[in-house]
Amino acid sequence: MPTTPIPPAVTCNVAIKSFFDKQTLTPLRYLTCINGKRIFLKQDYLNHPYIQGNKLRKLKYTLLQAAESQQTIISFGGAYSNHIAALAAAGKAFNLPTVGIIRGAELADKKQWGHTLQQAHDNGMTLYFVRRNDYREKHNAPSVQTLINQHPKAIIIPEGGSNTLSLQGTAEIIQEITQQKPPTYFQQLFAACGTGGTLAGLIDGAKNHTFSGKITGIACLKGADFLAHDIQNLSQHHQAIDWHIEHNYHAGGYAKITPALRQFIEDFQAHYNIPIEPIYTGKLCHAVFDLAKHSQNHAENWLIYHSGGLQGTLSAG
Ligand SMILES: *Cc1c(COP(=O)(O)O)cnc(C)c1O
Repeated sequence: MPTTPIPPAVTCNVAIKSFFDKQTLTPLRYLTCINGKRIFLKQDYLNHPYIQGNKLRKLKYTLLQAAESQQTIISFGGAYSNHIAALAAAGKAFNLPTVGIIRGAELADKKQWGHTLQQAHDNGMTLYFVRRNDYREKHNAPSVQTLINQHPKAIIIPEGGSNTLSLQGTAEIIQEITQQKPPTYFQQLFAACGTGGTLAGLIDGAKNHTFSGKITGIACLKGADFLAHDIQNLSQHHQAIDWHIEHNYHAGGYAKITPALRQFIEDFQAHYNIPIEPIYTGKLCHAVFDLAKHSQNHAENWLIYHSGGLQGTLSAG
């Protein structure tokens, strides 16, 4: 991964608008055919080197709003959060102040920092470290509220970055896909799920752009029973769209890896020369290839949404 500093934007308002205006469609590439299933990949990790894939999509409208009204953006996350990394990188790239409220008071000691926190700090994010109990109760804990109050008028986005504006951004992924292939071309679309915000946006986008494929979320956390419920809360159109969550491919839990998954990732990268990581996109691709293998043999077009996350590979290792 590149480690060269990102040049600061000159005037944020104009720079950020023109950045998004100039964004080109990320490639949609054919991979292979398994058991009649022609598998394609939407290579959204190519949308930005530091604010990758779904994270840039999710932040887009918050960044535009913050730039418009010169607001600070505050969010929450753990020491390895891709969302925190992406927000800090966006702050640097677009010259916007960002604040990260991080789980774990022990991380106030810089020697405990991994790549994500170091990089967030280097990108100019103001970091606060809070005790785990306070973090869990962040909407009530006085210590957390005191930190937030130091930044009046800030935009606060939840842990993982899923809110109404983030859905608007991820819905645009479907708009792009329907520009690249007809809306009836794919019978299935697959995406990795953490909080489910990305999936909720894809569902709303499918409704708005009459995408007819079934949408499947691959749960990357173990016991993520909250997912379906949270997606129903976030998405306006969850009743109009055929979607569901697969819970059998978490490989033991968040950031866990099995030998079979490790082997799959190595083989996939060697064969296609496409980077995937073990936390989200590795599990996603592994799941789709496995589902294709066990599907009934008839012809369909399946699409995998590669949501990025390659920043996380560095911080985990
Ligand atoms: C954060 C992340 C996800 C999870 O997105 P949610 O909207 O929280 O479900 C999926 N893939 C990658 C690569 C991520 O970084």
